[in-house]
Amino acid sequence: MIDLHTHTNESDGSCTPHELVERALGMKLEALAISDHDTFAGYDQAQPLATAAGLDLVCAIELSARIPAQNHRTAHILGYFLDQPPSLDFRTWLDGVLAARRERNLRLIAKLQSVGLNIELQEVERLGRTLTGRPHFAQVLVRKGYAANNDEAFRKYIGESAPAYVERQSAPVEALIQHVVDAGGLPVLAHPVRLGIRDSSTEETLIRELRDVGLRGLEVYHSDHKETDVERYGNIAKRYGLAVTGGSDFHGSVKPDIALGTGRNGNLSVPRSVLEKLRSA
Ligand code: AMP
Ligand code: ZN
Ligand code: FE
Ligand code: FE
Repeated sequence: MIDLHTHTNESDGSCTPHELVERALGMKLEALAISDHDTFAGYDQAQPLATAAGLDLVCAIELSARIPAQNHRTAHILGYFLDQPPSLDFRTWLDGVLAARRERNLRLIAKLQSVGLNIELQEVERLGRTLTGRPHFAQVLVRKGYAANNDEAFRKYIGESAPAYVERQSAPVEALIQHVVDAGGLPVLAHPVRLGIRDSSTEETLIRELRDVGLRGLEVYHSDHKETDVERYGNIAKRYGLAVTGGSDFHGSVKPDIALGTGRNGNLSVPRSVLEKLRSA
């Protein structure tokens, strides 16, 4: 079993990179990708330990993009760096992404304050390391009693249709895919089910269009995918010559219902052959 989609506390997970490697070793995962949002800091820290312990660690990242043709809906693109490290240019570009996040956090705090909440940026930033994201805001909102749990914090305040939602600047998906390719990475559409496109032919057309602008893979296996989703995306991948990937999207105690390797209530089991095919893709 392998897991090609996980987060550390360098983005919005709860485990340190070392803890994540220890867990992967403890459950005898055959390969682990660290795919933090917008940063390689977690991968960079985990890499020496993984090498020493003989764990097959894959360098990856998860980036947000908007889809102009779909009303600027957000898409997550995973970039897998299988045979060369990400370019320096790309790492520099990430600094700009992190700066845009900081600017967004300022606007988010102002908006939360304007709807009457007593919250300071400092107390949220204390929870983040390389970056502070909405899940950190949610944790503070729960701790302060403004929401009963994470989901409610998103629903009541910071989710996409909530009153204090603030968008963050993101690249159009075509440009982002090209950027990952230029950096030496293999771009994959993450958890396609979360695009929330109900009409399956519209969904398929979008995936084909992304393939036409450089997308190379589809995250067929994911904790949010039902059996029917796995089948549908598996077929789409085959039809359009996209590589298949999969992972739990583990975030530690931030998303306690998702387990490393095995997903939600054991709904996930990604075979090692997925990585072997990805490497030869
Ligand atoms: P950010 O990158 O700061 O905009 O935060 C995005 C992250 O927040 C996503 O990767 C999810 O983990 C989480 N998230 C987004 N929307 C929701 C929601 N409605 N409920 C729970 N978590 C969410
Ligand atoms: Zn996350
Ligand atoms: Fe995601
Ligand atoms: Fe993720």
